[in-house]
Amino acid sequence: MGVFKVDWVIEGEVPFTSPNCRQAGTLHLGNTFEEITAAQQTTWNGRSPEKPFVLLAQQSLFDSTRSPTKDKNVVWGYCHVPNGSTKDMTEAIERQVERFAPGFRERILAKHTFNTLQLEEHNPNYVGGDINGGVIDLAQLYTRPALRWSPYRTSAKGLYICSSSTPPGSGVHGMCGYHAAKRALKDIFNIKL
Ligand SMILES: Cc1cc2nc3c(=O)[nH]c(=O)nc-3n(C[C@H](O)[C@H](O)[C@H](O)COP(=O)(O)OP(=O)(O)OC[C@H]3O[C@@H](n4cnc5c(N)ncnc54)[C@H](O)[C@@H]3O)c2cc1C
Repeated sequence: MGVFKVDWVIEGEVPFTSPNCRQAGTLHLGNTFEEITAAQQTTWNGRSPEKPFVLLAQQSLFDSTRSPTKDKNVVWGYCHVPNGSTKDMTEAIERQVERFAPGFRERILAKHTFNTLQLEEHNPNYVGGDINGGVIDLAQLYTRPALRWSPYRTSAKGLYICSSSTPPGSGVHGMCGYHAAKRALKDIFNIKL
């Protein structure tokens, strides 16, 4: 799936009803498990959900370098959309935030949006707006980018590949680079970590 992302500048904080939500850097706005499943299944089937599962980040509350003033904050949120979709999900995303933080809309000072194609333009790694470098199913977890003995070797001797295109896939865990470096050390210097 692709993602549609909105960046906001807001007056004050996101007015979450729950005090716990005001203390979290990242929130998953889905309400119930059933609602999240329905939204994700609808998207996977190629349609845009009315109540999208929204991932929302409010890092400037905890990292002052993200916002020049204390009374204004930067917030971003995204939801999944069918790969390559250009549908504008701003309204649906803001409606979902508003459910858990009534009054959020009135605090918006500025916003910027990215549809899937704009995301891909920004980072060619996000094909069709997919921030995960392709579907991560069980097979893809071990065989990306291709089914071969070591996924970190390439056909050019001495040239290795890491990134979310290799196991264990996307995320900021750093393990793709770790495994690729391990492979290279073993091949070139016979060093086993
Ligand atoms: C909004 C958002 C939220 C996310 N949230 C999380 C999260 O909470 N937790 C988490 O673990 N992961 C998250 N991710 C995913 C995570 O950021 C990626 O999985 C991770 O950054 C992938 O790392 P990478 O090094 O493989 O690729 P990237 O970080 O995408 O780096 C690839 C680089 O290569 C450049 N590039 C691509 N093609 C070319 C080309 N042809 N020529 C030159 N340069 C090129 C790109 O510009 C980019 O700088 C999120 C991603 C996004 C977009």
